[in-house]
Amino acid sequence: MQKALRKLGLVGPMDFALHVPLRYEDETRITLLRDARPGEVVQIEGVVTSCEVTFRPRRQLIVTVDDGTDVCTARFFNFYPNQQKALSEGQRVLLRGEVKPGFMGCTMLHPSFRAAGGELPDVLTPVYPSSGNLPQAYLRRAVQGGLERAQAAGLLAETLPADALQDLQRQLHQPPWPLAQALRYLHHPTPDVSVAALEDRSHPAWLRLKAEELLAQQLSQAQAHLERERLQAPALPLRRGGLHERLLAALPFSLTEAQRRVGEEIARDLQRGLPMHRLLQGDVGSGKTVVAALAAAICIDAGWQCVLMAPTEILAEQHFRKLLDWLTPLDVGVAWLTGSQKTKERREMLARIASGEAQLVVGTHAVIQDKVQFHKLALAIIDEQHRFGVQQRLALRQKMQGNAGAQDLPEAAETATICRQNLSGVAETGTSGAVEAGQVSEPHLLMMSATPIPRTLAMSYYADLHVSTIDELPPGRTPVLTKLISQQRRDEVIARIGQQLAEGRQVYWVCPLIEESEALDLQNATHTWEDLQAALPDVQVGLLHSRLPTAEKKAIMEAFSRGETGVLVSTTVIEVGVDVPNASLMVIEHAERFGLSQLHQLRGRVGRGAAASVCVLLYATNESGRVSETARERLRAMAETNDGFEIARRDLEIRGPGELLGARQSGAPLLRFADLEQDALLLDWARHWAPQMLRQHPRLAERHLQRWLGGRAEFLKA
Ligand code: ADP
Ligand code: MG
Repeated sequence: MQKALRKLGLVGPMDFALHVPLRYEDETRITLLRDARPGEVVQIEGVVTSCEVTFRPRRQLIVTVDDGTDVCTARFFNFYPNQQKALSEGQRVLLRGEVKPGFMGCTMLHPSFRAAGGELPDVLTPVYPSSGNLPQAYLRRAVQGGLERAQAAGLLAETLPADALQDLQRQLHQPPWPLAQALRYLHHPTPDVSVAALEDRSHPAWLRLKAEELLAQQLSQAQAHLERERLQAPALPLRRGGLHERLLAALPFSLTEAQRRVGEEIARDLQRGLPMHRLLQGDVGSGKTVVAALAAAICIDAGWQCVLMAPTEILAEQHFRKLLDWLTPLDVGVAWLTGSQKTKERREMLARIASGEAQLVVGTHAVIQDKVQFHKLALAIIDEQHRFGVQQRLALRQKMQGNAGAQDLPEAAETATICRQNLSGVAETGTSGAVEAGQVSEPHLLMMSATPIPRTLAMSYYADLHVSTIDELPPGRTPVLTKLISQQRRDEVIARIGQQLAEGRQVYWVCPLIEESEALDLQNATHTWEDLQAALPDVQVGLLHSRLPTAEKKAIMEAFSRGETGVLVSTTVIEVGVDVPNASLMVIEHAERFGLSQLHQLRGRVGRGAAASVCVLLYATNESGRVSETARERLRAMAETNDGFEIARRDLEIRGPGELLGARQSGAPLLRFADLEQDALLLDWARHWAPQMLRQHPRLAERHLQRWLGGRAEFLKA
């Protein structure tokens, strides 16, 4: 039982108190059979007039109950001897279930039942979200117990300052319910409640819960913001005639207006001496890498190290090569770290990083492992940041505290930890207290993503994040034309590949991931590869998949980059960031199985050069010749727009914000009660009061956060 409760996330008293019912059952009244309408769920009380087991059409227990106004027949297909006994002739029982019109009187299928007598409850009976076979009765007792413990421990006491409460009253046009009352009510509403108001969450008890939750979420953001402002990061000035300028001059192209603008935003952050916390968002192909390189140049020029972390080896490798090309001629030391590296090479790289000889370090998550020690890390860049979990971002931030150059400041690092754990201490002592501004060094953090954050999320979950947006593509790109083609016309598509190749172009052919079966996945890709080899005898066809050893993947990717391979058959390993401008046709097989943003990322692999590019989405239909509703919406969105921001908006519509945030992998609690769109007014209210509450009522703020987030607060700050 304890295990089942834990699985539901029910551990502390607040977890139980906030485990609100899915729905309610009304056991407070008895309906006369005469008055029961078909389809209605009612409770009746009567005497069992017969109880027998029949075997036709299958084994079942048939019980008739007479309540003096009519007769009702109940059927049970599963029953135990003791239940049979409880329903034996002459017993007075309560039955509860949906009434259906029947041959003789009405019927109920598998009604719940118990012996009559005893008092009826005077509140609705809650039905809780459960898991496995945790019985409702047990869950009800557990929740009730948790609620009482929470109340006794003072966890439900008022945390809103009077002025915030008053303002909430103005917003709601009624006095807000106290939390304790709201929770008691949600667990046991009186029968006169408007069930609709409970269901659409407009009931005052719900409003209180939602306001509380949004406030907790805003408090944690505001708190993270305050803490960051108290920390210090190295000031990295933009020097005239420095590395930044030399890199700009050496680039084979000039920056777009958007790149220049976001570059300036970043440069301004870097020179402030406060840790930068910025997201650089821009559609696939908008040129984020060069902006990152320019930021790195500022950092290196100021005598510090920079690290760039990418989610896959292929991508890290590509960044490495590009940055090596750009920066080596300018005498910058670039190092390279991945999981698959040979021990000797790795040891060499680690030494160069620790000595500071490597000014820029590029790699996968290998860069955040314990062994890696930087000499003077000041800037961390995370590419495709949505691919990383919160822990990994936290680890990267902590790398700086391990700077070899900072070893003589152990106290500072310690204070930083204390400061993060103790909100009220920080807020009350202010800058003159234990955490003097300037004691702690944090790296500047630049996160990059092609998946833009929707406005409501930017206001809530990412309130503590500055956002720079690249909203134009480099010139000379022709938009990718997207075509939806049925799987049945696969041969035509293969013929089309021949044409592209004859024109000196290259082609990606992407095979889908088959859920939970890497082996099948591979089998599929291998078949396609054989097919294409047979159909295109004069062309080199490569096969890339995630099971290959890294060195081999690398070799295959390089052959494709150099143009030796005409067609690259691949599983989704090429999804992120890969850049081969000569590739101008992409075929995605079983496109209906991919997510929208994944399709967009994949499509972003073509259209990177000047040639007109095409993306073919091959879709298969089911037996009845159809594609599922959501798959159809995704495919339609792909055909209709190339705009990553529009794609993200539609993706949000189709999937909801939870998945977009990657909440499952990050462990960050999403909103359980409030809805960012629907509760926009409450969100505004919370946004307004959170910073004030932190400043003026730090203890209340801390209690509020404790109540809502418990130990999870740390996660929200990463
Ligand atoms: P993404 O934003 O998807 O990471 P990249 O940084 O990989 O995009 O850039 C895509 C391609 O565009 C690269 O080949 C890059 O060198 C090129 N590129 C970037 N900026 C410009 C520019 N201002 N003019 C021309 N080409 C550019
Ligand atoms: Mg990129």
